[in-house]
Amino acid sequence: MSWSDCPDARVQSDAPRTPGVDLVIVPRTSDVGGLDVARALPSRQRRMVGPFVFLDQMGRGRFEAGSGLDVRPHPHIGLSTLTWLFEGALMHRDSLGSVQRIEPGAVNWMTAGRGVVHSERTPDDLREGASVLAGMQAWLALPESLETCEPEFRHYSTAAIPRAEDGGWVASVVIGEAFGVRSPVATPTDTVYVDLDLAAGARVAIEPVAEERALYLYAGALRVDGRLEPSGRLLVLAPGARIELEAEQGARVILLGGEPMDGPRYLWWNFVSSSTDRIRAAQADWAQGRFPPVPGDPERIPLPDLPGP
Ligand code: MN
Repeated sequence: MSWSDCPDARVQSDAPRTPGVDLVIVPRTSDVGGLDVARALPSRQRRMVGPFVFLDQMGRGRFEAGSGLDVRPHPHIGLSTLTWLFEGALMHRDSLGSVQRIEPGAVNWMTAGRGVVHSERTPDDLREGASVLAGMQAWLALPESLETCEPEFRHYSTAAIPRAEDGGWVASVVIGEAFGVRSPVATPTDTVYVDLDLAAGARVAIEPVAEERALYLYAGALRVDGRLEPSGRLLVLAPGARIELEAEQGARVILLGGEPMDGPRYLWWNFVSSSTDRIRAAQADWAQGRFPPVPGDPERIPLPDLPGP
């Protein structure tokens, strides 16, 4: 996805919380090309959770026949993008020549490093009729030592993502190690990203598998240490806390986090860096056409007129 003029998420500070939850973030929703996008990170009170600097819920949205999502080619630096869908499909194309359809259960992992350009569009065959799209896209900051690494794109099929299950819940361990299984997705810093699908009545414990953790409640109300939380919120967890989840009706939750990063990051449009100079250089490079093209997708999103960095 590309940055849009989506305001910072709001922090819900008035409600009582359980000791295991440090912060409740209510995302702000905006329209991106006909799709509701809810942005949970960054928020004013919490910029990052482990390497996660940006967290969007895309949809759930419905497209009429003949239409779909069209995120035209745009650049990134200094980050990796993680795309994880719940419904529908997207076609990814990038300046490395990658052409990769992604569907629920699979992972698209793109490392921008010194610079990459990509587009994300509804596949042509889905435009023949009405289609739906729902998913998450996260940006993960690269450690300083890798911020200008060579760009790379990797796809992991559904079969490559390990699962654990017990008593009414299924955990897809997309990144890192949790519930006794380990993902093959390679990351430069300790990172965890798990999709938990809970049936009605299921209970599961969230162990302190990473120093910084948050739970994104995608669907279904959920008891978090006994307190009922509605869907569509990001709960930043207290370090070291063990959290009990209980789904009375069924729920879908993302656990994400990792080790703390090596310092703060600047975000400007689709650029992430520890250095404002590097962001200004990327602005000039995109404005003057110095990023590589995306083969087969000649469109581009122009550099926006935003203040900063
Ligand atoms: Mn993007």
